[in-house]
Amino acid sequence: MTRIFSGIKPTGHLTLGNYLGAVRQWVDTDQHRAEALFCVVDLHALTVEHDPARVRRLSRQAATLLLAAGLDPAHCTVFVQSHVDEHTRLAYLLECTATDGEMRRMIQYKEKAARERATGGSVRLSLLTYPVLMAADILAYGADEVPVGDDQAQHVELTRDLAARFNQRYGHAFTVPRAVLPTVAARVMDLQDPTSKMGKSHAETSGIVYLLDEPDVVHKKVMRAVTDSGSEVTYDREGQPGVTNLLEILAACTHRSPVELAASYASYGALKRDTADAVVELLRPVRERHARLCADPGHVDEVLRAGAEQARSLARPTVDAAYRAIGLMPPL
Ligand code: ATP
Ligand code: MG
Repeated sequence: MTRIFSGIKPTGHLTLGNYLGAVRQWVDTDQHRAEALFCVVDLHALTVEHDPARVRRLSRQAATLLLAAGLDPAHCTVFVQSHVDEHTRLAYLLECTATDGEMRRMIQYKEKAARERATGGSVRLSLLTYPVLMAADILAYGADEVPVGDDQAQHVELTRDLAARFNQRYGHAFTVPRAVLPTVAARVMDLQDPTSKMGKSHAETSGIVYLLDEPDVVHKKVMRAVTDSGSEVTYDREGQPGVTNLLEILAACTHRSPVELAASYASYGALKRDTADAVVELLRPVRERHARLCADPGHVDEVLRAGAEQARSLARPTVDAAYRAIGLMPPL
């Protein structure tokens, strides 16, 4: 059976980008067609300036939101990365497989390091090695597929390289996985800056729709979205990035084609109104289920406890085998 792994970082409140780019696929198809594991990757949240209490709170919130979005523990495994030691155990072996040049080429490293420096912070070594830990997250489970947004495609490509290199040098240890991207809204852009990706850790929040935003807040953010000069609605990422972003969001919400939608609008105003309505309807059931789950934290705890146990039992044999393959002596 196909094995699927994907994760989400507790670096902020989950956004519409996270939902359309990743979580919706996990809920609608992945958990039903494969053996799927979904992880709150909390260790990755420590790669940038962080507040310990906030990371702890956001980890629980992310897990609760994944269940509210529709992940069903009867069909998939939901767990927290730091509860399963195999991730960090394997990351070290992969650090001995990767090169520093490969790490420094990662676009996300360059962007996030620049952001840390711009705000007067220093760049943690873990930000540089983050893609190796991500590779370990995936390879520990022998995942065939990694459903992610477009921004993570480069990291999955690196994971493939590391798996193939390890297999070639030390004998077959890992499945070489592939990224699976949604066809529409694989990169939802910030509503106030449609040339940059909507990201949950960004400080400027007016262009970000969060899954738990109230309907009136969603309306306000979408109606104030930056659009482009001119008044025609065309699907053109280069020439009309703001309008194109709204078309992608509306298309993803309504399961229609963004190009077809573009032809049916004569003005930006109507497009914004329909997009706002569609997003509100998309998020309504998630917000409602989230409120119910918050009233029953014991249930979320139990899901995460059982999830970690299941994840551990899957990862252990693969990681142990990699330890032997690379030349480490078995414990006596
Ligand atoms: P951060 O700013 O901390 O990196 P993020 O919003 O990018 O947060 P991640 O936890 O890094 O979220 O990513 C979780 C998943 O959501 C990944 O599969 C990623 O590709 C996807 N994703 C993140 N942002 C977007 C976006 N704007 N559009 C589509 N997919 C996205
Ligand atoms: Mg990200």
